[in-house]
Amino acid sequence: MPSREPALSLSKGIGAQRLKGYTRMNSTKTAVTPRPARAGVVTARRIGPILKILRRAAPNWNAPVVTFIGVQTGDPFRTLISCVLSLRTRDETTAAAARRLFDRAATPAAIAAIAPRDLARLIYPVGFYRTKAKVIAGICRDLIEKHGGRVPDEIEVLLELKGVGRKTANLVVTEAYGKPGICVDTHVHRISNRWGLVKTTTPEKTEMALREVLPRRYWIEYNRLLVAFGQTICNPASPRCSICPISARCPRIGVTRFR
Ligand code: SF4
Repeated sequence: MPSREPALSLSKGIGAQRLKGYTRMNSTKTAVTPRPARAGVVTARRIGPILKILRRAAPNWNAPVVTFIGVQTGDPFRTLISCVLSLRTRDETTAAAARRLFDRAATPAAIAAIAPRDLARLIYPVGFYRTKAKVIAGICRDLIEKHGGRVPDEIEVLLELKGVGRKTANLVVTEAYGKPGICVDTHVHRISNRWGLVKTTTPEKTEMALREVLPRRYWIEYNRLLVAFGQTICNPASPRCSICPISARCPRIGVTRFR
């Protein structure tokens, strides 16, 4: 049975991901000479001014796709399913798959009624689409049988859903419910270590370290700001330090190549 929920307007992929005031930046006009890497590590006391600078620059960056879907729909279920779709998948691909899926079905009951092969076909080509189709179907069944069709708003309860890890659980509570959590993906892990705010080897360890050091008032926005920043400027292989608005405050730990 087709869903009557409104369709996501993501028809133009990442270019259409605009939160209020979010647009693609014009990098050529903001280029400055790279500064030497001599700033000290970023501490809990110094993180506030850095996030303030990023917050001011954020309107020039595309919002992360799951944030966009969460804000656009205000629906915890769509936020949860979009997050599962987004794992190991580019934002453009996630956005298109989410649109196809939610156009067809946007509630646990509606998705649980879709045959597994059709579900996999709907979300193709997200990474591991066959596995994700099974995970999504399982989540929908669990939500119906154990939670009355409602998405839980606590991290520990979300983690009991098969296929939901700490990243997804944190993202759902922060983006869908506005509750404290720190969602650590590859961007948050990499950038927090480049700043020296934490010194960790895995995203899970980074989350625990950030819970100790990052003032609680920054938890919810931290993922949103750092993912957009990581996709736009502080890229994985060769960060764009020459146009970075916080280059003077960054010790660039572990950065051997930059633009
Ligand atoms: S782009 Fe990343 S590594 Fe380079 S100065 Fe900015 S925050 Fe530091």
